[in-house]
Amino acid sequence: MFYFDNFFGKKILKSSILSDIDCFFTTREFVLTYSSREDLKEVSEKNRIFLLDKLNSEKLVTAKQIHSSNIETVKDGVFFYDNTDALISNIKDTVLLLNFADCIPIILYSKQNKTGALIHAGWRGSASEIAKKTVLKMTNDLNIKTKTITALIGPGIGKCCFETDADVFEKLISDKSNKNLYEKKGNKYFIDLKLLNANQLSECGIENIDICNYCTCCMSDIFFSYRKENGITARHSAVIKI
Ligand SMILES: [Zn+2]
Repeated sequence: MFYFDNFFGKKILKSSILSDIDCFFTTREFVLTYSSREDLKEVSEKNRIFLLDKLNSEKLVTAKQIHSSNIETVKDGVFFYDNTDALISNIKDTVLLLNFADCIPIILYSKQNKTGALIHAGWRGSASEIAKKTVLKMTNDLNIKTKTITALIGPGIGKCCFETDADVFEKLISDKSNKNLYEKKGNKYFIDLKLLNANQLSECGIENIDICNYCTCCMSDIFFSYRKENGITARHSAVIKI
């Protein structure tokens, strides 16, 4: 279950299935990435310093996200990854950060192996199965057992607002008989990207999955929404400290 909490006075969203780990989704009140909102540049820079100070870490690792399915396992001493949409780390005290405005944020964590991952899954990433590929990379490269992984699918655009044309629908939905994944209205399709990603994780063997019902487009007072704000917006973030 997801619940709003505060991180030293700043509003964040957490999940009860990983409440004892430093991992959460930020809100408009705790902006870490200003993107096209130049007016939020200063506050987002201050907030990054605040975040690292409170998490007692100097190792912030982030990426230039490009809607790919490129995944990197973090190397000690490397803090920025170009053209990357998922980060995996088992390095102690690393703080991973990825940014979102409607795309689906996913946090993975294995308590046994103290290994975490963040995934940026928009429709392109979802279509190329970035969630599934990240789990496979964790299990193959780092020897993590899938059953030990807990997954959080955070706030992102909901089926209510993710309207697409037939071309995107064709790329995303291979099993057209699964009516939970989409709804057709006229010649438009409304697709459930969160469920699509949850299904990818289940297919890998992950049992512990929490899905956030909040739609960032409907709740643009709390989260940033690329659609609702016509592209001129900052980002909320997914954060995990290993
Ligand atoms: Zn909505």
